[in-house]
Amino acid sequence: MNEQERPSPTVEDYLGLIYTLARDGERVIGARLAEAFDVSAPTVTATLKRMSRDGWIVIGEERDITLTSEGQRMAESVIRRHMLTEWMLSRVLKLPLSELHREAHQIEHSLSPEVEERLQSEMEDPRFCPHGNPLPGFEEDVRAYWALCDVAPGTVVVLRRIHESLEDQYEALSFLEAKGLMPGAEIRVKEVMPYNDTVCVVAGGQEVILGLALASKLFVLPLETD
Ligand SMILES: [Zn+2]
Ligand SMILES: [Zn+2]
Repeated sequence: MNEQERPSPTVEDYLGLIYTLARDGERVIGARLAEAFDVSAPTVTATLKRMSRDGWIVIGEERDITLTSEGQRMAESVIRRHMLTEWMLSRVLKLPLSELHREAHQIEHSLSPEVEERLQSEMEDPRFCPHGNPLPGFEEDVRAYWALCDVAPGTVVVLRRIHESLEDQYEALSFLEAKGLMPGAEIRVKEVMPYNDTVCVVAGGQEVILGLALASKLFVLPLETD
């Protein structure tokens, strides 16, 4: 395969998602991709077959999907391009956090290696995207984070990360934005109510009720008080 040859935007999207699912220790199978991309199972199967033929992935006996080393390299490239583009849209164009992901998604596939390199240095070698998700190679930096739904009541924490799976959910992101629940926000956990599937937190002096599903996608670190 030609060094400079890039797969189609669809294949790049698949590579990125396969990478992210594997990173999170989730089982990577076609059904999971069909659900995430909201496409039919036969469509996913056809795309995966092409990807396997082209050497991006290996489909195992149990239909588990793994990236080849070439697939891994390309997945890292597209994720890096996506995250650097998010930073550019955030810093240069001042787009709100809720709009970064979908706008970056339109641009990332066409970024040349030269522009990618330029962005990398202009954005000062970021380790995380504006939502706090790690760039490839910096996954270890988020391992110590806690899911907000696991934090003991009374604890004051700082929001560090809004998981990738929420980035394309515009309504959820706008809600978090409106409530000031952005990376860097100081949050006090007031009450955790598993029987009600909710967590009550205080951010910016305002009480916010979050569903456990949403709170499990928000990651925090304790506030350092020294
Ligand atoms: Zn994104
Ligand atoms: Zn992001």
